Amino acid sequence: MTEKNTIVIATRNKGKAKEFEALFNKKGYGIVTLLDFPDIEDVEETGETFNENALLKAETISGKLDTLVLADDSGLVVDALHGQPGVYSARYAGEEKNDAKNNAKLLNALADHNENERQAHFHCSLALARPGKDSLVIEGRLDGEIAGVPRGENGFGYDPLFYLPEKGKTLAECTQSEKNEISHRADALKKLERHLDDWLND
Ligand code: IMP
Repeated sequence: MTEKNTIVIATRNKGKAKEFEALFNKKGYGIVTLLDFPDIEDVEETGETFNENALLKAETISGKLDTLVLADDSGLVVDALHGQPGVYSARYAGEEKNDAKNNAKLLNALADHNENERQAHFHCSLALARPGKDSLVIEGRLDGEIAGVPRGENGFGYDPLFYLPEKGKTLAECTQSEKNEISHRADALKKLERHLDDWLND
């Protein structure tokens, strides 16, 4: 059980939780993460869509803890690869979840495609669940292109290959605060802020 006005962020990643903290603090909610509930097992992401996975995580954990939970699921969607790596972004090159191998596999998969077929976007689905209430799902995105070679040292995952034409650099060449302004998670959070009061008070 958690105290009233506390939300559980369904992650063990402190950096991710921080991104959500400011919004919920503003609404009068404190946050805790799964680091505070070591006995809760990870929820297997068996959904075929980002929305399904975010909902699965939020609703499963909300049911177990009998409280308000926010979960997210995100990944990279490449048009020329029919949406791959998609929900398999973390484990695109294998279960070990290796960023360098994932990036290498992505470049390889695009090698046979035309130069002008590099459009991609990052997607983020957020799901809010509370016992006895219909869940809320919100989506955010960041559009860009897949670069020919990795560039930059910041960020994680596919950031070195995610080129932003309007900035003339990859996401891994952006500072953390630049990324936090434009990211798919930031976009989803902005949209969540617009719906949050109605949903919480409904
Ligand atoms: P998660 O659902 O946030 O854990 O993301 C799943 C996977 O998508 C990560 O392991 C990364 O491979 C990829 N991904 C999600 N967000 C980002 C991002 O902001 N930059 C780069 N890769 C990301």
